[in-house]
Amino acid sequence: NRRVVLATRPRGVPTPQDFRLDQTAVPAPNEGQVLLRTLYLSLDPYMRNLMDEAGTSYAPPVPVGAPIVGGTVSRVVASRHPQFRDGDLVLGNAGWQDYALSDGKDLIPLGEMARPSLALSGLGMTAFTAYVGLLDIGQPKPGETVVVAAATGAVGAVVGQIAKLKGARVVGIAGGADKCRYAVEELGFDACLDRRDPQLAEHLAAACPNGIDVYFENVGGAVFDAVLPLLNNGARVPVCGVIAHYNEDDLPAGPDRLPKTVTTLLQKRIRMEGFIILDHYGNRFDDFRRDMSEWIASGRVKLREDVVDGLENAPDAFIGLLEGRNFGKVVVRLTDA
Ligand code: NDP
Repeated sequence: NRRVVLATRPRGVPTPQDFRLDQTAVPAPNEGQVLLRTLYLSLDPYMRNLMDEAGTSYAPPVPVGAPIVGGTVSRVVASRHPQFRDGDLVLGNAGWQDYALSDGKDLIPLGEMARPSLALSGLGMTAFTAYVGLLDIGQPKPGETVVVAAATGAVGAVVGQIAKLKGARVVGIAGGADKCRYAVEELGFDACLDRRDPQLAEHLAAACPNGIDVYFENVGGAVFDAVLPLLNNGARVPVCGVIAHYNEDDLPAGPDRLPKTVTTLLQKRIRMEGFIILDHYGNRFDDFRRDMSEWIASGRVKLREDVVDGLENAPDAFIGLLEGRNFGKVVVRLTDA
């Protein structure tokens, strides 16, 4: 059983030395357990937060020396559980390893799928995050302006496309010309700006002549600074993630902008609301699966997967995800079997 374990806790930007590929015996299931073989592993920014000592409010830290956690599409290869049979395809949490045991409580049966990675991309956690954050918190109305960064990524690409379906004007922000072209030409965004543009604030203002009604917050940092002055009265800001800050050990240098931020929220009656997608599976996952399956089948939502071959390449792909080397939802293919 090959596993990628956390070798040391990263300081700032993770390096290849923070990860180690090791090998253990394939475990045998006890009564009530299944043995899972990982087909696809999802790589997600939150994993960086779980590499820190403190962990997060929603998940404990990954112990040093343990395999890194992660959502997977897995095949049941040995079942001693009454509800699962050998050969079943399931959505699970096997983490960064070839094999894992489960008691079945965290498994969602998938049936047979022509494209199993879809359970981690278009029908997976990140697309579900886009759906809940945009529709339940952002609540875009026809004609309103929606802005989203990391616009071609797993969450952002779906946010923008659903916002278009709801009749909004959509402005993306992404890393580089290729991603921006894709957002406009393939995903149908109205405009897309390069996040490294030194004149981002001016260009964003020009791209949003009626201000911003919904800002779907994926990144924080300089993008948030450019967005804040453009928010309209009554704007909604679903706070999904702040990837620009995940590698920071300390507060950034510079003036304290909190008073200006809070004053803007107050005077413009802005609703800024954080959410963690784990809380919403019980009440919204079925709606999501129904709507999204239909949108994907009809071609109204397009998905781009950035498929990385081989578990041994997961650390490099993960480091790349945190700096924007990925183009689309990152999934690691361990085997097609
Ligand atoms: P993506 O597929 O969008 O990949 C991450 C992207 O972030 C990179 O490709 C890059 O895009 C962008 N990025 C990296 N560094 C910076 C930076 N310094 N400033 C601005 N952008 C940067 O990842 P996901 O779609 O999976 O995740 C997007 C966000 O959603 C993350 O913040 C993640 O933590 C959050 N999330 C939150 C969930 C929740 O429950 N609240 C659930 C799932 C995700 P580019 O090159 O285009 O700038």
